[in-house]
Parts: sequence; structure tokens; C-alpha cells
Amino acid sequence: MSPIKPRAPRDNGAPDYEPYLHPSMQRNYGRWTGHRDIRPGVFVHEAESGDNLFTVRAGSPRLMSARLLRRICDVADKFCQGRLRFTSRNNVEFQVETEAEVQPLIDEIEKVLGFPVGGTGRSVHNIIHTQGWLHCNLPNTDASGVVKSIMDMLYEEFTHENFPQRVKISTSCCTINCGGQTDIAINLQHHHPPVIDHEMVGRCELPKVIAICPVMAIRPDRKDGHDTVEVIEEKCMYCGACHAQCPAIEIRDGDTDTLSIWVGGKSSHTRSGPAFMKLAAIGLPNNPPRWPEVGDALKRLLNAYKDGAREFERVGEWIDRIGWKNFFDLTGFEFTKYHIDNYRWARTTFNTSSHVRL
Ligand code: SF4
Ligand code: SF4
Repeated sequence: MSPIKPRAPRDNGAPDYEPYLHPSMQRNYGRWTGHRDIRPGVFVHEAESGDNLFTVRAGSPRLMSARLLRRICDVADKFCQGRLRFTSRNNVEFQVETEAEVQPLIDEIEKVLGFPVGGTGRSVHNIIHTQGWLHCNLPNTDASGVVKSIMDMLYEEFTHENFPQRVKISTSCCTINCGGQTDIAINLQHHHPPVIDHEMVGRCELPKVIAICPVMAIRPDRKDGHDTVEVIEEKCMYCGACHAQCPAIEIRDGDTDTLSIWVGGKSSHTRSGPAFMKLAAIGLPNNPPRWPEVGDALKRLLNAYKDGAREFERVGEWIDRIGWKNFFDLTGFEFTKYHIDNYRWARTTFNTSSHVRL
């Protein structure tokens, strides 16, 4: 039998992450006994070997220049043996091996980078937000700008742990909502069916455009001797999925699009299964550069949650306990016809949990 040849180095996909781990993580990989919170933004992992690894979490603005990234790397070179990591919520995490190094590291993060330390435990965690205009062809609001405005407003809520339970927020710049399910979400909403440019449509694959509509509101059509599509307006729910497939079907409208707030989603299985968000506030102006109406609505919601929730209750669990009528009374949000879920294919029994059901 011929000897097994060494495999060629991989030249695609994600590289092996192990060399990029902090040396303490490499030494103790898979042999941790647990972790503890030390203070807001700082926690320690304890290993079977007796090693400790302290993590300092700093909130980043997500959109960063190369110069700022180099400054972040300088901090990691100085304190963390050249390693750092980013979380999905755009935090930068720095790790050190002794508690004595934690405060000098925090001082450097705050003074040199200007980043706040926090976003752990019962705080408002850094906002997860969607790709936005840097990478996507669909946005009709600037998710990064909304997030920056809100996190400036919630600076103290990020650096302190003053809530009944962690609060996770997401922002999405279209109704497709690639920000995901969270306690509170700020999403863009369209308010009319798409407008079709029949001259442009048909440059790509029409069957795909027709198939992507979740309510089958798009059907083939012919205009001026060439193939195109039409939208059955009374079926359309303004989701914008067709615009994602075909740029000649335009749904974005700077005059009528608004922002909305959704509540009660979560991805974890802690205590209850994952949950979809539900509409709380609709019709908030898409008002750059600081989106004050969204900030005001969010403050009202967070204050009601902080005052009314029991210890450890997530936002959705608090609403489930007090009921939607009390939720609208406490927040002052207007209840409208749009809050009634009449989507004809809504599957209320969606199996969103991996719990075993017998
Ligand atoms: S939320 Fe929509 S517009 Fe924003 S990045 Fe995701 S798909 Fe694109
Ligand atoms: S906006 Fe959504 S519902 Fe309306 S036609 Fe496009 S894909 Fe269908």
C-alpha cells in the first residue's frame, strides 16, 4: 500500500483557528471548569490546570477604519500576547492571564481606543446589526447609524448591569431582517408593493423572481413583446424579498418607509424555547442622522421592562407574564390593526425548539 501523502495546505475556507487562540486557551482547550463574572465587561475562565484567563469586553462601533483596527491590534500586542477576538455583537475581547493586568488593560482600552467596557450579564449588550449598505444591495436605512445613535444613548446601560436580565437588541435595514431574533429589534418596514421597471426586468431568471415571493403575489407577464412579471397588489405584504432577487423590482421608498420596534424574540433554549419577535411600535420615522423618535420609543420600552420585570425575566418572558394589554398600557405604544397577525400561512406551531417532544 502506498504511504498516505501529506495533505496540501488548504487554500480556501476559514483557516484553522487554533494558532489564533490565546496561548492559555491553547494550553487549556476543552479543560475549563467554568467561568465567573468579575465586574461589568470582565469575566474569568478557570481551567482544571489552575490557570485563569480574564476577558475584557469592549464595545466597538462595528464600522471601523484600518487605522482604528491597527490601534486595536497595538493594544492586543501590548497586553494580550498579540491575540484578540471579535464577538457576533461587534465587541472586541482582550484576554490576559492575571487579575493585576485587567485594570491597566481597561485604562488603555478607554483612553487609547475610546471604547466602553461592558456588555455582559444584565446589561444592554452591544447591538447586533445587519450588513447594511457596505455589503448589501437592499438597505433603506443605515443600520450602523441607528445602532451608533442608540448605543450613544445607552452608554450607561452598556457599562452597568442594572436590568432584570440581559437585553439583546438587533437592527435590520430591511424587512428581510438578517439581524435575527432578539429581545428588542429595530427593523425597517415598507408600506406599498414594489414598482417594476419592465424595461430592466428579465435580464436574469424570472422563475427565481416568481418563486421567491412567500405569498405567490408575482406571476409571469408580457409587456411590449418581452417577458416580464406583474405583482398582484392585494396579495403583496411588502416584504421586499423580490427586490432582493431582482433589482428591477424596487420597493424602497425614502418618503414612506418607516422603522418599527419588535419585542420578545430569543435564540437560546434557557428556560423556554427560542421565540419569534412580535410587533410593538410601528411607523417610527426613518430620521437620520440620530433617529430621535426611535431612541425615545426604545427608552420607554426599556424603562417599562426595568420597572416591571422580575429578576432574570427576559423581555419576552415579562410580556408573556403581564399580557399584551398591560404591555401596551405600560409602554404607551399605540395598538393598531397592524399588530394583528393575519398572515394566512403563519405557522403558530413552528417547531422553534430543539426540546424533545413526545
Ligand atoms: S437587513 Fe436586509 S438590507 Fe440589511 S443587510 Fe440584511 S438583507 Fe441587506
Ligand atoms: S414584496 Fe414580498 S410579498 Fe410583495 S411581491 Fe415582493 S416578494 Fe411578494
